[in-house]
Amino acid sequence: MNVFKFGGASVKDANGIRNVAEIISKYRSDELVVVVSATGKTTNALEQVIQEKFENKTNALQLLRKIRQDHEVIIQDLFNSLPAELLRSINEYFVEGEWVIDEDREMAYDYVYDQIIGIGELVSSQILASYLLEKGIKTKCIDARSMIITDDTWREGRIQWTSTNAKIRDNCNSILRDNIVVLTQGFIGSTAENNTVSLGREGSDYTAAIISAALEAQSMTIWKDVPGVLTADPKVFDNVSKLDHLSFLEAIEMTYYGAKVIHPKTIQPLKNKNIPLYVKSFLHPEKEGTLIFGEIDRDYPPIVVLESNQSLVHFSSKDLSFIAEDHLARLFGLFDKFRIKVNVMRNTAISFTVCIQYDKAKLNSLIEKVQDLFTVIVEPNLDLYTIRHCNDSMLPRLLEEKIVIMEERIRKTVQVVVKSAPVIIHKKDHH
Ligand code: ASP
Ligand code: MG
Repeated sequence: MNVFKFGGASVKDANGIRNVAEIISKYRSDELVVVVSATGKTTNALEQVIQEKFENKTNALQLLRKIRQDHEVIIQDLFNSLPAELLRSINEYFVEGEWVIDEDREMAYDYVYDQIIGIGELVSSQILASYLLEKGIKTKCIDARSMIITDDTWREGRIQWTSTNAKIRDNCNSILRDNIVVLTQGFIGSTAENNTVSLGREGSDYTAAIISAALEAQSMTIWKDVPGVLTADPKVFDNVSKLDHLSFLEAIEMTYYGAKVIHPKTIQPLKNKNIPLYVKSFLHPEKEGTLIFGEIDRDYPPIVVLESNQSLVHFSSKDLSFIAEDHLARLFGLFDKFRIKVNVMRNTAISFTVCIQYDKAKLNSLIEKVQDLFTVIVEPNLDLYTIRHCNDSMLPRLLEEKIVIMEERIRKTVQVVVKSAPVIIHKKDHH
């Protein structure tokens, strides 16, 4: 059996959904699980709804209504006669969302977030399922929340592997045996107490990998709007080329450093079960794409990953004591507690510097906890470039006209923190 994952861009409108159905009918194996994201930018729009719930409920309800209308436009375009069952289930998801918005009880932001954010996937999967059925592709939509079980770390649920694996097999195996396509939502799961949890933004890839591993799939394919994994983000750089093959390890490293093409948690479950991952274009499904598999690295060209909105945070000890292991242990305890990911770090005798995503609220809570010991200076508006397989000729070119604040090199991986520049940096016509 195989697993296909379709992201938001692939189902952004009625034509997108038609194209996805065609890919499924043309490239499917008999046994197929399809994991789908929310349409287009729906998840971003739902994040706005959640924000407004805490500021202005009327706005929140209005924004939610707009999202609903956008989906109704897609449905009207797709179906000649509107499927009553589809309309009923979609209505249910939106009404539940309205209830959460209307609720006056005080509830933590992250919990509320997870109760609303999954509407995008729940609705897109119902639309796709109805459309596949209309096209004569036997399909069953299974609610991911009955398979993906997590703890209650809201917005980043941690998978409970034993129950998740068992539930995936229980739900899918008999359906797959009848050659019925299993369709489910990426990005969401459920706690043991039946609360909806999300797995972190762009988490649908991870869902597909969890399902692939549980069912020991022959392969998993992520269908994207790019031809495969590229040497850099084509929206930012020119001269990018497609990588035909990446080892699992190279893919883990790349995505860890922020390459947006695949969610960083995706590779591990696949590597553990030795399942090949294909990254292919939904616009040119006949083309090869990128294969991620195996341990062997050929010679890679330089691969550039850019992370924007970074900050350097400098901690220096107030009493001039050395930055020793106890200081570091305390700092890292707090990074863990506030879920702060350290992208680069460096110490001197009495100071310690980290490069992290800029997040004012998190930084304030962190500073509050350490100000007895450390003077803290935050330098915002920075970009972090990570170059894997860096060669000497490319680095000066990349850093041309940039103000470098910090540089770290370990073997062929170079990380450089620079002052932020406008978004389009390396397009030729800007030289
Ligand atoms: N729809 C979710 C997001 O945009 C999950 C995903 O697309 O993978 O973050
Ligand atoms: Mg998405």
